[in-house]
Amino acid sequence: MVPHAPYDAIVLGGGPAGSAVGRLLSAWGHSVLLLDTPTPSSRGLAESLPPSTQKLLAHIGVLEAVERAGFFRATGNTVWWGSDDRRVETFHSPGAREAMGYQIHRPDFDRVLRDGARDAGAELRPNARVRDVRFESDRSIAVDYDDGERGRQTAAGRFVLDCTGRAGLVGRRFRRAEPGYRTCALVGVWKKPSGWDLPDETHTIVETYDEGWMWSVPVSRDTRHVGAMVDRASSTVAGGRELEQVYRAETAKATNLGRLLDGATLQRVWTCDASLYSSEQYAGPQFLLIGDAASFIDPLSSFGVKKALASAWLGAIAVHTCLTDPARQDVALEFFSNWERDVYAKHLGRSREFAREAQARHPHAFWASRAASDDVKDASEPDVARDPDVLAAFERFKQSPSIHLALADGVRFEPQPVIRDREIVLEDAFVTQAGLKACATSALRFMGNVDLVRLADIACRHTDVPDVFEDYCRTCAPVPLPSVVGGLSVLVAKGILHERA
Ligand SMILES: Cc1cc2nc3c(=O)[nH]c(=O)nc-3n(C[C@H](O)[C@H](O)[C@H](O)COP(=O)(O)OP(=O)(O)OC[C@H]3O[C@@H](n4cnc5c(N)ncnc54)[C@H](O)[C@@H]3O)c2cc1C
Repeated sequence: MVPHAPYDAIVLGGGPAGSAVGRLLSAWGHSVLLLDTPTPSSRGLAESLPPSTQKLLAHIGVLEAVERAGFFRATGNTVWWGSDDRRVETFHSPGAREAMGYQIHRPDFDRVLRDGARDAGAELRPNARVRDVRFESDRSIAVDYDDGERGRQTAAGRFVLDCTGRAGLVGRRFRRAEPGYRTCALVGVWKKPSGWDLPDETHTIVETYDEGWMWSVPVSRDTRHVGAMVDRASSTVAGGRELEQVYRAETAKATNLGRLLDGATLQRVWTCDASLYSSEQYAGPQFLLIGDAASFIDPLSSFGVKKALASAWLGAIAVHTCLTDPARQDVALEFFSNWERDVYAKHLGRSREFAREAQARHPHAFWASRAASDDVKDASEPDVARDPDVLAAFERFKQSPSIHLALADGVRFEPQPVIRDREIVLEDAFVTQAGLKACATSALRFMGNVDLVRLADIACRHTDVPDVFEDYCRTCAPVPLPSVVGGLSVLVAKGILHERA
């Protein structure tokens, strides 16, 4: 029996991804059912969020609530990466609140976000374990779930959004494990009332050793979570005492972090899977995989939650587009899928670089397997910074800001998907000829944050670069001057703009 009219979206999982997408779609007027089964608080991780997460939290409309929750704030990281030399990385503008990261205890953070979804109008079922998803017809899915005392329930919807993280209720069937990245996290909570002898106690700490790497994230002045990331195949441990022994032995391997734990009391230990994976497919006519349900990036990046929030924001835009204008469904879902694919490739590339750095110092199978395999090319942002034609144009604008630019004859446009407000729409982009060596796309619309079609139009109306910059920032969006000069350089190097005689 289906007791409710079909929902626009049924969101499975109320972690950061599920709560964020649930909140956005509800706020935009769609009916949303959000089903979550709580993770035991005793297994809740302490995690680091970089300062840049604040922008996303603001977009989602939960920044104030997160601020009010009073999470421990971080000013940077202290790192021993493949070296005995300590590197202290301080976020920019130390002291400024917006330049600080968050050290969150996930159960508390997730509660704030779930409340945000409910406040925006999502129907939240906080004790609902999803059992099955059935794709019933082209336009309808059914979700079976156990809802505590209410017993077995079924809900119908237009879209199912899988935000169940590693569980991947829908995502599992598309999952592709990353070879060489089977990792197990052994996590412990430590208390040291006398405080930690560190240059900055708010910092996340990271250290490599031969068979793995360790991290430590504080949740308060006296309590830190400390995790050892080890090879999954070699870390089969039982629970209880044996686990604690294995964990203590592992923490002793990281010289600096191990020393830090002297005099601290271990409160509890548990394990979790931290192996990397991506998906063959990220969306279909009735589903989207969002956050960790789509892919899992290396926790070393401290970007997992930020990626989940970004995925949720883009997923909400894609679903809103499909519900508003079904004719744009294919374009919207492809745009979302391409973003997911690119973001995973970009992070995997970075992980490999870090692994190669660590391997030079620790020639162990743990690092060899992570450092091996092909480089991954990120196709989302063409790396034009090294293209000689672009560099030459950039130099020319730097030396003489005076310009007399015009659109070259025969420049053609073709529609390309872009985000406008809450929708994915098709807008004209320049069709480029082959020639810009590092450029991956044939249709050019954006370079970083700069809209090249609008920049070209503005550039043709001015006679010097500072005026173009001022006009662009006033009428489009504020961006740094080098981005505008870079955009102009690409337009000239690509032969889209040329100097009038
Ligand atoms: C050891 C480790 C350290 C990490 N450190 C960091 C860090 O420092 N910084 C960072 O940004 N990221 C970190 N991450 C990554 C981060 O945890 C994830 O990227 C993030 O949790 C993804 O959010 P999500 O909402 O996609 O999934 P999740 O947070 O996994 O949320 C999934 C939700 O779905 C629910 N669920 C699952 N199955 C069902 C079901 N059948 N029915 C109903 N509900 C269900 C779960 O209970 C959960 O609430 C770390 C990960 C690991 C493993």
